[in-house]
Amino acid sequence: MPVFNSLSDRLTSTFKNLRTRGRLSEADIDATVREIRRALLDADVAVPVVREFTGAVRERALSSEVSGALNPAQQVVKIVNEELVDILGGATRPLTLAKTPPTVIMLAGLQGAGKTTLAGKLAHALKGQGHTPVLVAADLQRPNAVTQLSVVAERAGVPVFAPHPGNTSEADDPAADAPLIGDPVGVARDGVAYARDRQHDVVIVDTAGRLGIDEVLMQQASDIRAAVNPDEVLFVIDAMIGQDAVNTAKAFADGVDFTGVVLSKLDGDARGGAALSVAKVTGRPIMFASTGEKLTDFEVFHPDRMASRILD
Ligand code: GDP
Repeated sequence: MPVFNSLSDRLTSTFKNLRTRGRLSEADIDATVREIRRALLDADVAVPVVREFTGAVRERALSSEVSGALNPAQQVVKIVNEELVDILGGATRPLTLAKTPPTVIMLAGLQGAGKTTLAGKLAHALKGQGHTPVLVAADLQRPNAVTQLSVVAERAGVPVFAPHPGNTSEADDPAADAPLIGDPVGVARDGVAYARDRQHDVVIVDTAGRLGIDEVLMQQASDIRAAVNPDEVLFVIDAMIGQDAVNTAKAFADGVDFTGVVLSKLDGDARGGAALSVAKVTGRPIMFASTGEKLTDFEVFHPDRMASRILD
């Protein structure tokens, strides 16, 4: 993962220094933990998360609870790996599907986070698994958003429910039942009804984002949530936004609440350590990762695999 390259290099070189050691003294462990702390902070991981992480690594390394079959360097790597898995959310968290379709998935996040792109990727992936998703354009904030979602839907080969003028893939059914532009809550609600009527088993509701955190935006997202009662609310966050990630995630957790996190732009080259903070800070699992602009640049997020990639 490019966003973790620098962190990855720093951690591996820290471990390389340990390889020549026999037993590790407390001073060796402290020096190693200090290097890990610096690497995490330089990668923009949130300070409280770094503190907790390094505290746990130090304590476990000192008590050397791990198997005697490993040499000291391997023991430290094992501990760091397990603690990384922990801050990344522990186990893989699959998408919750409604017992009675349609499953409603709402997307939330700042403007530019990658929500619309994700809507297409998720729809494409679900379609590949035999689902029949429909996208709902409840982002009426930007003039282009509806059109953009329609383009994404077409690319993914799924229909879109949108107010005019974006309703391209339902041209034969010009959304006569769609409310007027300007009522995103109504669009979201009608989109879910539309899916139910036409037996689409998944509805993905794209919502508006702003450049910064905004009361009106939060209220709107919260109203949409109340109107459509989603099975999942996915908070999409640009992995490259640095330390702002924590405040943004907290604001969305308080304002809308979400059930899972999607990290986008993991292909970027900025320091993506903030992405490592989000699950821990919000207590919500990272469920998917977006790694590019193409429909297929998308994967289910596995904390253990990501930790191994970082430590590779
Ligand atoms: P939204 O405002 O949250 O709906 O964000 P968009 O989906 O419109 O994405 C904003 C920009 O980021 C667009 O130019 C996307 O092509 C781009 N983008 C989205 N996801 C990714 C990703 O995973 N990697 C990269 N490199 N670009 C992305």
